[in-house]
Amino acid sequence: MAVTEAPCDLSYCKMRGIVSVLTAFIKERKMGLNDLISKLVSNPHICHHSEVDFLKIDENQNEELDEDELLNPMCLTFPRSSLAEELAIKPSDFDYLKIIGKGSFGKVLLARHRDSNEYYAVKVLQKKIILKKKEQKHIMAERSVLMKNIKHPFLVGLHFSFQTTDKLYFVLDYVNGGELFYHLQRERVFLEPRARFYAAEIASALGYLHSLHIVYRDLKPENILLASTGHIVLTDFGLCKEGLAPTGTTTTFCGTPEYLAPEVLQKQAYDRTVDWWCLGSVLYEMLYGLPPFYSRNTAEMYNNILNKPLILKPNVSNSGRELLEGLLQKDRTKRLGVKDDFMELKCHTFFSPINWDDLMARKITPPYIPSVSGPTDLRHFDPEFTHLPVTSSLCNTDGLLVTSSIKEAAGAFPGFSYGPTDGFM
Ligand code: AMP
Repeated sequence: MAVTEAPCDLSYCKMRGIVSVLTAFIKERKMGLNDLISKLVSNPHICHHSEVDFLKIDENQNEELDEDELLNPMCLTFPRSSLAEELAIKPSDFDYLKIIGKGSFGKVLLARHRDSNEYYAVKVLQKKIILKKKEQKHIMAERSVLMKNIKHPFLVGLHFSFQTTDKLYFVLDYVNGGELFYHLQRERVFLEPRARFYAAEIASALGYLHSLHIVYRDLKPENILLASTGHIVLTDFGLCKEGLAPTGTTTTFCGTPEYLAPEVLQKQAYDRTVDWWCLGSVLYEMLYGLPPFYSRNTAEMYNNILNKPLILKPNVSNSGRELLEGLLQKDRTKRLGVKDDFMELKCHTFFSPINWDDLMARKITPPYIPSVSGPTDLRHFDPEFTHLPVTSSLCNTDGLLVTSSIKEAAGAFPGFSYGPTDGFM
C-alpha cells in the first residue's frame, strides 16, 4: 500500500516557536521539580522517610567542574542554592582600596561594596597555600565559626563568604581602630582599668564561644582589634576548634609561640582552659609590657613556659596578680575556669568594678577612643601594609589558565559560600 505523506504546512518559524514554547515549559517544570526536591530534602521529617531517600544529594560527591565554571567566578559559589550565589556576589562587586593586614594565607583589604557604598574588610585567602599547608579544615572552621557568631558584640561579623577558582573571600565587618598590639606597642603598658576593660570584653567573647563548644585557641594582640568606638573585636577564627564538649580535649599543635599553653607545647590533650591561659598571657602583656615567660630565644621561652615559675612584680594590684596566677597556672586541671569556665572569671575580684550586663550592652565607656575621621582613615593600620599596592588580580580570574592544581583548588572548599537570609548588609 502506498503511503501518502500528510501535507506539512508547518513553516520553519512555526516549528521554532513550538520548540521554544515546549523548552520553556520543560524548563519551568524542571525548576519547579528542583524546588520541590530541595524543599523535601531540607525538611528533616520528610528527608528521613525511606520513600524519598533516593532524592538525597551526596554532599561529598566530588563533581568535576567544567571549564566554563572554572572561568566564571559566579559559578563557583557552593552550595549552589546559597544566597551568595543567588545574589551572585563576586569579587568585582567591590572596590579594593587598601591592604590593611596580612595573615598566613593571604591579605585583608579595605573594600567598598559598589552598590551599597558600605565599607568592609575583605579577607582574601589563596587556596593553593591553604591546600599546600593542608589547612582546609581550619579555614572551613573559621567560616563556620564566623557564621555562628555574627551577633556577638565583641566578635567580628561575617557578611558573606564566596570563592573563585583560586581564592576564598570573607566579607567581614571593617574594624578600623587598629590592633590592640599596635596601641600596646606605642604605650608600652596599659593602666589597670584599661587592661581590665579589654580583658573583660575578651573574656565575655571567649565565654560565649565556649558556650557554643568552640575553643578560640589563638588569642594574641594581633587578633584583638579595636572598633572606632573603642570596644574590642576579636578576629581570625582560623585556628578555632569546633565541636569540643565542655570537657572535650584535642591535641593539634598550633598557636603563637609566646602564648602557647604548656599542655599545647607538650602536645598533650587540651581543652577550653587553653583560652584562659592565652587571656592570662594577653593580660600579663598589657600590664607588664612583655608576654609572660618571654625570651628572645624561642627554645628558652618554651622551657620557661614549661618549667619556670611565674614571677609577678608588685607594680600590679593584688587582685590583678591573683587573677594572673589563676590564668597562668601550668596545670590546666588547676587553672582558673576549669570548673565553671567564664563564670569563675566573672566572679573574680579583679573584675568586681565591671557590670557584666552593661559590658555586654556596650554601655561601659571605653577607656580610649581611637581617633578616626572616617572609614578611609587608616592611621591605626601598619604602613607596612597600607603602602603596598593593591593588585588587580583580586577581582580578575577571567582568562585564567586552567591547570589541574587550579581545578583541584577550585573544588576543594564545597559549601564555603555563605550569605545572610536578609540580603546584603
Ligand atoms: P588575620 O588573617 O585574620 O589574622 O588578619 C590579619 C590582619 O588583618 C589582622 O591582624 C588585622 O590587622 C587585619 N584585620 C583582620 N580582620 C580585620 C577586620 N575585620 N577589620 C580590620 N582589619 C582586620
